[in-house]
Amino acid sequence: MYVLSCNDIYEMEKEVKSIYGISETILMENAGAALFNFIKKTADKNSKMLILAGPGNNGGDGFVLMRHLRVNGYNADLYYPVNDNKYNKTAQTNLNILNNLNIPLYDLSTLNNIDNYNIIIDALFGIGLKRNLSGIYKDIIEKVNQTNALKIAVDISSGLVSDSSEAAECVFNADYTISFSTLKYCHTLYPAKKYSGNIITTNISIPDNIISQYKHDIFIDEYNKPALKKRPADSHKGTFGKVTLIGGNVEMAGAVKIAAVSAMHSGCGLITLCHPNTLDRNFISDIPEIMTKSFDYNEPALICDFINHSSTVYTIGNGMGRSKAVKDFILHILKNTLKPVIIDADAINALSLNELNNIQSEAVITPHLAEFARLINKDINEVKKDKVKLAKEFADKYNIYLILKSAETIIAVPNDKVYILNTGNTALSKGGSGDALCGLAASLFAQGYSLKNTCILAAYILGKSAEKAVEKNNPAYLCITQIIDYYNEVFNEF
Ligand code: ADP
Ligand code: ADP
Ligand code: MG
Repeated sequence: MYVLSCNDIYEMEKEVKSIYGISETILMENAGAALFNFIKKTADKNSKMLILAGPGNNGGDGFVLMRHLRVNGYNADLYYPVNDNKYNKTAQTNLNILNNLNIPLYDLSTLNNIDNYNIIIDALFGIGLKRNLSGIYKDIIEKVNQTNALKIAVDISSGLVSDSSEAAECVFNADYTISFSTLKYCHTLYPAKKYSGNIITTNISIPDNIISQYKHDIFIDEYNKPALKKRPADSHKGTFGKVTLIGGNVEMAGAVKIAAVSAMHSGCGLITLCHPNTLDRNFISDIPEIMTKSFDYNEPALICDFINHSSTVYTIGNGMGRSKAVKDFILHILKNTLKPVIIDADAINALSLNELNNIQSEAVITPHLAEFARLINKDINEVKKDKVKLAKEFADKYNIYLILKSAETIIAVPNDKVYILNTGNTALSKGGSGDALCGLAASLFAQGYSLKNTCILAAYILGKSAEKAVEKNNPAYLCITQIIDYYNEVFNEF
C-alpha cells in the first residue's frame, strides 16, 4: 500500500485530470459513493446519522455522501458552515444539488443535539488541514468524541495533519477511516494513528501506475509482505546459513539468549553464541541446539576471525553493557569484520555517528526511538515529530539499513524507500522484544533473504506473532519467549 504526502496527492489529482480527463467532479463523486457503500455495509438502515461537512473539499465529499444516503432512504442530517466556507466549483455544485433536491441542511453553529445520532461522519477537514482545530470546529469535535456514536472519518480524522505523526489536543477519534487513493502518513505513525481506527483504503479511480510514479513510501501488511522461501528438500544445515550472536554479560545474559531462541525458531542452520568469558557458559545449557564461544574483551581479533571464516551474518550488542572495555571490543569488531551485521542495543550505544563510517560490511541497525535520538544527537521529541524523514536521511547518508522501532516500525532502506509496519501490540512493550527481532533478522538473512526483505520480514513476523499470541492470551501476561512460540503459526500462514 502506498503512502503519499499531501502535496503529491494534490499533484496526482491534477495529473489524472489532464491525462485521462478524470475530473475533480468524478473523484468527489467516487469518494462520496465509497463512503456510502461502506455505510451501507456497516450501518443499520434505521441508524440516525450526522454528517459534519467542513468548509472545503472534505465537506464536498460529505455532500455527495448525503445525497446517496437520502436518495436511498437513510436517515441523515448534514451540518455545514453556511456563511463561512470556501467551496470550489465542485463542492458548490454538490451543495446546490442537495438544495435542488429540497434536502434540508443546517448551519454548524446550530448543532446542539449530538447525542441523538448513532453514526457521526467527520467530513470537516481532510488533507488540507495544516494547523490545530480551533473555534467552533474544536468545540464540535470535543463534544462528538464524548458520544457513543460510531465515528467515521472521511479520508483523515479532523485535527490530524496528513503528513505528520503528531496528534493535536483535539482530534476526531474515529472507529473507521475511509482513506482515498492511498494511505497518508498520519494513518500509519503514532500517536496520530491512534485516531484513525480501522482504515479502509478505497480507489476513487486514480490508476495505480499514476500513484506509483509519485514519490511514495510503502505500508506493509499481509497483502504485500515479501514471500517466504521454500526450504528445499535436498537441504543441509549449511543451506540455511550460520548465525553468530555476540552479546551478554553477567547482569544481562538473557538478552542474547532471547536473540538465540528467536534465531533458533526461525529457520537458520547453525547458531553460535559468543559471550564474555566472565559469563558461565552454563547460562545457555538448557538450549542444546546452540553452540557457544567465549571471548576476552582484550582479544576481539579472535572473534573477528571466527566471524570472517565461520559466519554468514552476525549480531552484536544484546545485553553487553556500556563499559569502556565493551565499547572498544564492539568497535574493533565492527571495524574488522566483513560479514553483514545486525547492530542492536549496546552496540548502538557504543557507536557515534563518525564511527558509522568505519563499518566495513553491509549493516542493519535496530534502534528504538530513544537509541536513535541519542545516536543522531537529537532530542527524542524532535525525532518523534519527524521519524520518517530522519530515518531516510540516516539510511541514505550512512548507507545503513535502519529499523527504527516503536509502536510502529519504520524501515529505511538506503537510497530506496521507507517501509512502515503497524504489526504488533503492547505485548511487545517488555524487555527482550528487540532482542528477539535482532535474532530473527540474523536468522532470515542467513537463509538468503535480501537485507531489505530481512528487515521487513523480521518486523512483520515478530509483530504478527504478538498479534496471534494476543488472540489467546492477555498482553499483560505474555512474555517474549511465549511470543516466539507463535512464529510457528505465522510461518504456517504465509
Ligand atoms: P533500554 O534499551 O534498556 O530501554 P535505553 O537507555 O536505551 O535502555 O532506553 C532509554 C529509555 O528509552 C527507556 O526508558 C525506554 O523506556 C525509552 N524508550 C524506548 N523506546 C521508546 C520509544 N519508542 N519512545 C520513547 N522512549 C522509548
Ligand atoms: P529490548 O531492548 O528490551 O529488547 P526494544 O525497545 O529494543 O526492546 O524493542 C522493542 C520491540 O518491540 C520493537 O520491535 C518494537 O517495535 C516492538 N514494540 C514495542 N512496543 C510495541 C507496541 N506497543 N506495538 C507494536 N510493537 C511494539
Ligand atoms: Mg533493544
